[in-house]
Amino acid sequence: MSLAVEVVAKQAAEEEETVNLMTRYKHAELEDDVSSVGSVQLAEGVSSTTTHIRYHPGTPICPPQWTAYWKSRSRLERILFSVSAGLIALLVVFVLLLFTHPACHRRPVEDTMPCLSPVCVQASANMLRAMDETTDPCDDFYTYACGGWVAANPIPDGKSMWGTFTKLEQQNQQILKTALEKPYKELHSESEAKAKRYYMSCIDLNETMEALGGKPMLDLLDKIGGWNITTPKWSVNQAANWSLQKTLHKLHNGLNMGGLFSWSIGEDDRNSSRNVIQIDQGGLTLPTRDNYLNKTENEKVLHAYLEYMSKIGTLLGGEEAGTREQMQAVVDFETRLANITEPLELRRDEEKLYNLMSLTELNEKAPFIDWVAYFSDAMRLVNRKVTPKTPVVVYAPQYLQKLSDLLKEYTNTTEGKTVLNNYLVWQTVRSLTVALSKAFRDAYRGLRKALIGSEGGEEPWRFCVTDTNNVVGFATGAMFVREVYKNDIRPGAEEMVDMVRNAFKRNLKRLDWMDEETRVAAMQKADAITKMIGYPDYILVASELDKKYEDLKFKEDEYFNNNVELSRFNLRANLKKLDEPVNKTRWSMTPPTVNAFYTPTKNQIAIPYGILQPPFYDTRTQNALNYGAMGVIMGHELTHAFDDQGREYDATGNLHNWWNNQTIDRFKSRASCLVNQYSAFNVNKKAVNGNLTLGENIADNGGLKAAYHAYETWAAQNRDEQSLPGLNLTQKQLFFVAFAQVWCSASTQEAAKLQLEKDPHAPSKHRVLGPLSNMEEFSQVWKCKPGSNMNPVNKCEVW
Ligand SMILES: [Zn+2]
Repeated sequence: MSLAVEVVAKQAAEEEETVNLMTRYKHAELEDDVSSVGSVQLAEGVSSTTTHIRYHPGTPICPPQWTAYWKSRSRLERILFSVSAGLIALLVVFVLLLFTHPACHRRPVEDTMPCLSPVCVQASANMLRAMDETTDPCDDFYTYACGGWVAANPIPDGKSMWGTFTKLEQQNQQILKTALEKPYKELHSESEAKAKRYYMSCIDLNETMEALGGKPMLDLLDKIGGWNITTPKWSVNQAANWSLQKTLHKLHNGLNMGGLFSWSIGEDDRNSSRNVIQIDQGGLTLPTRDNYLNKTENEKVLHAYLEYMSKIGTLLGGEEAGTREQMQAVVDFETRLANITEPLELRRDEEKLYNLMSLTELNEKAPFIDWVAYFSDAMRLVNRKVTPKTPVVVYAPQYLQKLSDLLKEYTNTTEGKTVLNNYLVWQTVRSLTVALSKAFRDAYRGLRKALIGSEGGEEPWRFCVTDTNNVVGFATGAMFVREVYKNDIRPGAEEMVDMVRNAFKRNLKRLDWMDEETRVAAMQKADAITKMIGYPDYILVASELDKKYEDLKFKEDEYFNNNVELSRFNLRANLKKLDEPVNKTRWSMTPPTVNAFYTPTKNQIAIPYGILQPPFYDTRTQNALNYGAMGVIMGHELTHAFDDQGREYDATGNLHNWWNNQTIDRFKSRASCLVNQYSAFNVNKKAVNGNLTLGENIADNGGLKAAYHAYETWAAQNRDEQSLPGLNLTQKQLFFVAFAQVWCSASTQEAAKLQLEKDPHAPSKHRVLGPLSNMEEFSQVWKCKPGSNMNPVNKCEVW
């Protein structure tokens, strides 16, 4: 995770889907994982029990195990019972006549009676409303399952994307709001009080932020030596004596701000039980290198970016024409950075990206600063020393080499130095403008509109809830869990993961492209995947939670300073990791998050509590729905262990080749089938990038199949479930509709374009169409003719 992770987080909160750049391969679904994270302990291990993931809430028609029950009753009981049974039978016939769908009678078991509990009726109504039954499911299953949803759910004002995930996120925000607005005395820990203080500073009821205007930023600029854009005292003299090294110490290490490159302490891919310094490319403000390089297509974006920069500069006191001119020079510099930045789709082979070296070697490769001095300066914050021999993993050595050349050019002249300082200070300014008055926050609207097609403007409390959750997400996580907790849903979800894992393994046995040795190792890797479900237990123990945030201080009316404080806190927390062994149960996503992730260096999946809710997971509804929605998500995360990147890590999470070479070739040839298939998908006439999205597509395809097979096994071991009222669908059909409806969504043209360029996930529609059209069982269940859109003759299969 990048050094400037909280800065990115803050923007992500504001910009939603935009600037979510993850520098390293850490799988988080959809949007990024954004929070900084700490230690966690959670009971784990692979539970072997299966079945009964859900129960039927007191439905009158299908009581359990009649024969045994009957035999154990007394004579009188049996007589009384028979009388009552007769009366009940009459009632049943009556109800049946009233409610059953005529079509249900064709089905042998499921037709006895649809489930009429309020939960079933609700689930059925929601499902029906989202569907477009006029579309042929064999022609376009996405429209069949989601056509109604798309028609009834225009993108709300200020949003650029809207879907099943975002809707649930909004519900979770509401829950957090209620919790955060409770009086301090009702909170359970000092950490929760800190969360509330931070939230209150963001909400800013007494309008301190408005009263202060740009002052907090100007004070900060003074402290860091000034900025040519706003500080008249910045002189030629000052520029001549300017030092890149000292400026980076101040901004990177003193404030934890970004620029030029990114670094952090993280798990060593080749020795995943230790932490190591990791360095990567970075430093662009706009989301993609394409935004700078493809000028014709990005004219609007580049123009809006310059407007935004100039506006902020003048708000901070810069003179208009001069500010614009200087900001243009910053854009030009960023364009040079974009030019040496490697495109994402070429950065998928972890074996090639990983370059271990000493700081001395790094000094030779990238001599623009003294790296020993740089890291010594950073490590002073935690009283630790580095030496020339200290190891670092460099993920972009060529970038750093080219950066050296570029910086040499700029540091040669005083003008060049001024541009560099302007650029670096801009990275700090832009990261913190969100914590200034409304005029500063509004300046971003035009750029936002150009990037994602919406100006934003959601209710401030929503921004503040998301922000607080990004900042102290395990404190808000505790509050969230307490609000939504009814019964422990974790054991059921854990069993479901095991059902899906077992199905994945059964499938592994039949794959003819794997050699036996690799297959055995793959089985072991599948068995070794650990799981974290819901939330870490420690968050509900005040003393343990408080230890995590011990070092973090917030004040109720100092939002700007709180953010500066937070940024430093995150840096210290990250630096401390260098000497600590890797914590294998550390969560990198907060409990209220509607998402899930797989971590290759831990060989671990995590499913936060935030997503273990309807419509993804509900213990009161049909398991066909739970497997279709949540089961597929679990399968997706499990399959990441075997995607084009995940497969390079072994069962213990170390990057090393455990594959037979011929099997690797066959894997690659199977993967290239998916690359071609997805590259043929289009959104607004722009093609999906089959290479960039390969890992996610492998996970989507494998996850769907594993979840479906798991559901079949569950269904074979359990009593038939009742059908849903009003839907003439079998349980297996329900599975597929539930799966597809997870992806019902809409986005602006701009957001769709940005997603194609940046997001490693395929667009929602194709996350439905791709995997289903590759799956024989889907076509059997829906009776799709060979050659129809959803049942093409040529199918792709990796797992
Ligand atoms: Zn994924």
